[in-house]
Amino acid sequence: MGARSTLSFEETAAKYPEFPRLVMLKTDIHRRGVYYTPNALSVVDETRHQLGGTHIFGTRDGKLTKRPEAFVLRDGTSVLSTPTPLENNPYVVDLIDGKLVLTDNEHILEEVFYWEKPDYYDKRTSSGALMQNIVGARSQRLYLVPNRYCHFWNDDMGCKFCDIVNNLKQQRNEIEMQTRIKPKDVAETIKEALKEKGRFSAICLTSGSDFHGETPFDKEIDYYVEILEAIGENFTAKKFPSQLICTAVTKEQLKRLHDKTGISSLTMDIEVLNEDIFNTVCPGKAKWISYQEWKKRLIDAVEIFGENRVNTGIVSGVELAEPFGFKDEDEALKAVLKEADELASYGVSTVNMVWVPRPNTYLANQKNASLEYYVKLAWGLQEIRAKHNLKIDFDDYRRCGNHPDSDLARAF
Ligand code: SF4
Repeated sequence: MGARSTLSFEETAAKYPEFPRLVMLKTDIHRRGVYYTPNALSVVDETRHQLGGTHIFGTRDGKLTKRPEAFVLRDGTSVLSTPTPLENNPYVVDLIDGKLVLTDNEHILEEVFYWEKPDYYDKRTSSGALMQNIVGARSQRLYLVPNRYCHFWNDDMGCKFCDIVNNLKQQRNEIEMQTRIKPKDVAETIKEALKEKGRFSAICLTSGSDFHGETPFDKEIDYYVEILEAIGENFTAKKFPSQLICTAVTKEQLKRLHDKTGISSLTMDIEVLNEDIFNTVCPGKAKWISYQEWKKRLIDAVEIFGENRVNTGIVSGVELAEPFGFKDEDEALKAVLKEADELASYGVSTVNMVWVPRPNTYLANQKNASLEYYVKLAWGLQEIRAKHNLKIDFDDYRRCGNHPDSDLARAF
């Protein structure tokens, strides 16, 4: 593969015939982005289709205008879309002969289908909040961002690939979005969402980091407990199918979360599996926790949440960013998979997101990795999980749909 692979989608598909073609295509769509033509947008039906807007991060073209949040491929693979300017050479969704199709340089690849909007989306809570801005829908799960502000940004220590606060400012100006949502609004929205029988199979929460509190991050955990208790009002069982994506907190804080709430799985995103690059890319996480402590806390979490219930996410490709990243894709792959294997030996899965260089970030205008790199990485992570007999049901194609490697768990 060398410094940077230059293989196209078809060349990569020919080289790795055992890798599911539609998962590879989805990975490349995440990598290159997507552009909706005016014709494709003309058939968007706001009463039927789910439009973007509630996402925690911004788009690649920096616009919040209403466009389809995602689409489905013919095998049920869901693809979150990040609208991208045409000059960046994205895939294009077009309307041809009355069908919505994905094209690449005018060559039709696949028919696509816009996500259908849940019934609760246009309803309001008793306080007047629009329910779609309290709880979003992602594939088969309900998705909440209780706190859209990340306090690492106070000291300019946000992660270098992240635009959460810039996106929040834009959302507050352009749509009815609250920085912190109220537990009562959450309880009411979840109640309404669950009326749509069979649509949702899990609930996921994530937020910006908040280091305040007697022990750092107590405030973040207190707020999650409040929100999770509100969600729990809708369930009779002690635990409900759910995932919390939070900062790597201490064993005591993890225990509090586990014992006081219905949360059933935990994700603490280390973002990049290399200590030096982590220190550069995630200065806030490095200052408040450190790379080695982050790994230790992931391992501690397995003791509390149990096997097959803990994972960490990486923004894959950022380990190749300039000027601090690896210069060679083979070298980067080897280093990342070695770290993932070590974590897996303690029961911690790693899932990858494809890095999207967004305009309102420090790393805007950089290029992410090659498709061949992402294929080998997804494959490697899936093989590591198989080797250590780890399951990833709580973060797979049904629940999340944003991880090429856990999409593979469906086939292997
Ligand atoms: S911890 Fe990093 S990735 Fe997460 S919200 Fe804050 S800046 Fe963004």
